[in-house]
Amino acid sequence: MDPITLLKKMVSFQTINPPGNESELAGYIGGLLEPLGFQTEYYEFAPKRTTLIARFSATLNQASICFTGHLDVVSLGETAWTKDPFAGEIEGDKIFGRGTSDMKAGIAAMISMAMELHRTKPALLEKIMFVFTAGEETCCEGAYHITGLKNVLGRAKVMVVGEPTSNYPLVGHKGSVRFDITTFGKAAHASMPELGDNAIYKAARVIAKLESFDFKIAAHPLLGSPTLCIGRISGGKNINVVPDRTCMGVDIRTIPGQNHGQIKSALESALGSNVEVILLEVARSVASDPEDQWIKLVFSIMKKLLGTKIEAKTAAYFTDASVLYKALGNPPTILLGPGEAHMAHSKDEFCHISKIDEAIRAYLEIVTQTK
Ligand SMILES: [Zn+2]
Repeated sequence: MDPITLLKKMVSFQTINPPGNESELAGYIGGLLEPLGFQTEYYEFAPKRTTLIARFSATLNQASICFTGHLDVVSLGETAWTKDPFAGEIEGDKIFGRGTSDMKAGIAAMISMAMELHRTKPALLEKIMFVFTAGEETCCEGAYHITGLKNVLGRAKVMVVGEPTSNYPLVGHKGSVRFDITTFGKAAHASMPELGDNAIYKAARVIAKLESFDFKIAAHPLLGSPTLCIGRISGGKNINVVPDRTCMGVDIRTIPGQNHGQIKSALESALGSNVEVILLEVARSVASDPEDQWIKLVFSIMKKLLGTKIEAKTAAYFTDASVLYKALGNPPTILLGPGEAHMAHSKDEFCHISKIDEAIRAYLEIVTQTK
């Protein structure tokens, strides 16, 4: 099957998360990999929420080249599409559909690479492990699930994440830590505010502290400094009542050297008692050493393929690598996929067809040249 027919077929599986329903797509991909000699394993973190791991039984316990991608896609958004989001319509060099760029094209390129190797150099297939996850868009649910299971994932020598990078090899990304921060007061009638304790006034003081919060960590050479954003806030029920509670959602993007426990303690001591800080989600930062031999190898492969000088750069978004990286034994990691990052999560999402062919060539070279 050619890569574009494969991508069209993958786009036709509706894997909008929620609800995800990745199981049929996982089964379809497994059905393509088995005839190539892969042994497939399916792991459900909830009904129909299936992650697929595929590798050769002969090399089950050996570190491999881990190629990973996620099967789920985000919702279609508020603005109406001009294309059918599940048809894979083609116009010139573009193929349209939800998940083309983020990141079914990356997975289609990985599978096409394996099919090509099966025809030409089948022995090389044994170097590969595929991890295609469910639930990535909702903070790496599928990846967390498989890394929590004993003796499932194994180790990897190196990892390639097929998220949209226009095939530019990126060496990592920030992590993310999310908290709910709650302030408490005492309700009273608005005509007698002196009898209450206004939780919104307390929230205002918390917000001011968060706006100037100092993480006290030097900027990372590639990832820069951590950031903090209050993304939502709620509090108070009626205009004539002193509010007794507010809650705000805080998203922090982290760099190596930070962890969620330390950040939580720092927030708690800065915000004082009677402010509750509850951890919601964690995704670790990933930063490969640009001087690593394998990273240099990928840079040289991509310099030739893209015809441009490659510098160590990182992605704005985070990926399943946040979770898989440590579980796989901290392998040097590259994000490299045919999609366009600016197309991810947008209406009329598309991927360049020429980029898909280029990604297949890149993956083939990576497998061939990785020792
Ligand atoms: Zn993605």
